Parts: sequence; structure tokens; C-alpha cells
Amino acid sequence: MTDRPFRRVALIGLGLIAGSMAHAIRQGDLADEVTGHARSEATRDTARRIGLVDRVFDTAAEAVEGADLVVLCVPVGAMAEVAREIAPHLVPGAVLTDVGSVKQSVIDAVAPHVPAGVHFIPGHPLAGTEHSGPESGFATLFRDRWWLLTPLPGTDEAAQSRLRALIRGMGAKADMMDAVHHDLVLAVTSHAPHLIAYTMVGVADHLSRVTESEVINYSAAGFRDFTRIAASDPTMWRDVFLHNREATLDILGRFTEELFMLQRAIRMGDGPLLHDYFGRTRAIRRGIIDAGQDTAAPDFGRALLAAGKPQG
Ligand code: NAP
Repeated sequence: MTDRPFRRVALIGLGLIAGSMAHAIRQGDLADEVTGHARSEATRDTARRIGLVDRVFDTAAEAVEGADLVVLCVPVGAMAEVAREIAPHLVPGAVLTDVGSVKQSVIDAVAPHVPAGVHFIPGHPLAGTEHSGPESGFATLFRDRWWLLTPLPGTDEAAQSRLRALIRGMGAKADMMDAVHHDLVLAVTSHAPHLIAYTMVGVADHLSRVTESEVINYSAAGFRDFTRIAASDPTMWRDVFLHNREATLDILGRFTEELFMLQRAIRMGDGPLLHDYFGRTRAIRRGIIDAGQDTAAPDFGRALLAAGKPQG
């Protein structure tokens, strides 16, 4: 096939996102070869055992040798170190991208290391699960999901269109955004919600009047969904908060104000306020379903999934 967007794709970091990319690239026949590297021997051994990529290298430098697309799939806090290591080994004309959940700090960390002639196009697939590691990836993770690109001004158009072709080939929809705006949007849609979930599960953990077995046995949908989010990878999320500090603190400040307002409404018995507020939030949920970003099936379609049926 001659119209594959890339010849050799190098994935640095071999966890959920890289693994899903490897499966999707193979399934879509989007590159001649996929190489990879992860920091620990254990992860590299697992990747070799399950044949996650065509070749696993012990160093990132070797993995990127001759690659025309390099994807940094490591936690946000590790991007600078990896970029420094691979920079001298990148070939002119290569596209360098990343999948980090925060964009401005990744640009600050990576851009200074990018050699002339290499096209750096920061990116973020809006898809994930609470699982991590080389065995957690699957080919359909990105299907119908957004993949945001935050290119710097003047980035080569042809390089951008090759990357967009790969993204489309993996089933995702590419869109462009300014990096700072991306970080604010994601603070609302992902980062603050994760912190709230971590906090709620932490509260239940500290509440001595409710026993641990009660929390586990009687966890109704609300708490159960918080526990799923709060099971997300600690390293990844530590880095997200440390590197999207300003936007997350901005949203958390607004969240606390709203929480106090609702707390007061409950104390004052202000039913109309609560009903009106919950009516508006329900409309947001409907909007997400109408946009095809979640299922309308009760309980997130868990019963359908368990029965092996596709979600609506
Ligand atoms: P993951 O499953 O935990 O995998 C991370 C990988 O990075 C592991 O293979 C790890 O190697 C490797 N790694 C860590 N530090 C490294 C270093 N210094 N040098 C080389 N390899 C290193 O994580 P993930 O969920 O795929 O996340 C990867 C990136 O995608 C993060 O930047 C995250 O913000 C972003 N992202 C995640 C999601 C999500 O929901 N999970 C969604 C969108 C974007 P070892 O196993 O050897 O430690």
C-alpha cells in the first residue's frame, strides 16, 4: 500500500495510549512498521511477549532511529527528559507529536529540544480508561473520539495533514485548538472532575461512621462511578495537576463557590433553586449524548456491555 501516512512510527512509552495506538495502526494498516520503547525492563518484556509493536528497543534513542513519526506517550512530567534523549536521533522531516493530557507545559518542555527540520505537533486524544500499562490498550479506544492538536504558529501544513490522516485512520476526529485554551477546557471536562472523584473516594475512606464494607457493598451508581475515575493512574494524574496548575485551580475555585451555593440552598430548604440547577445540568448530559460522546443506555450501558451487546 502506497498511501500509508507514515512508514515507521516510534511509540515512546508503552502504556494504555501507546498500546491502543499500536493496535489501531496495525488494524488500519497505517504504517509499515511500529517500534517502541518503555522505561522499565518489565514493560519492555511484556510488550515483546504480547507482540505489541514490531520491535521493542531498550533505549528511546534506538526506537526513534529512522522513524518518520515519533509519538511521546509518557506521563506529562517525563516529556522533557524523553525529548532531550531522542532529539539528536530524530531524522529531518520527521513528525514529532505527543499524547499528553496537558498541552502548554508539554510545549514548554519539548519545543526547546526539537531540532530544525523536525515538525513538532502537540496532540491529545480525548479517550482513555482507568487502566494503564502495555496490556490495557485496544484498537477501538479512539473510535469517534476527538483528538485535539495544538500546533505552534507556522507548523508545516503537509506534516499536519499526514498526522491528521493517521488520526482519522485510527477512527478519531482531529480538531485544532490553542494550547492554553485546551488546558482550560480540559480542566473543566476532565482534570477538575478527576480531582473531585479522588476527593469523594478519599472522604468515604476517612469516614469512620460508615464501615469500609458498607461503602463497598452499598456503593450506588454515583459513588461507584467516582471509584472508577479515582482508580486512574496516580503518576499520570499527579503530573496532570502539577502541569495544569493554573487552569485547574481556576476551575476548582469556581467549583467551591457553586458547592457553597448549593450547600446553602440545602440548608435553607430552597427546593426551587436545587430543582432549577439540576434541570440545567441534566440538559448538559443530554447534549453529550446527542453529540455521540456517550451512551444514553441506563448505567452507562454496563448491563449491555456485560451481555456482550454494543452500546447505543
Ligand atoms: P500508562 O499506561 O501508565 O503508560 C505510561 C508509559 O510511559 C509506560 O510504558 C511507562 O513505562 C512509560 N514511561 C514513564 N516514564 C518514562 C520515561 N521517563 N521514559 C520512557 N518511558 C516512560 O499511561 P497512559 O495512560 O498511556 O498515558 C500516557 C500519556 O497519555 C500521558 O501523558 C497521559 O497524560 C496521556 N493520556 C492519558 C489518557 C488516559 O486516560 N490514560 C488519555 C489521554 C491522554 P514503564 O511501564 O516502564 O514505567
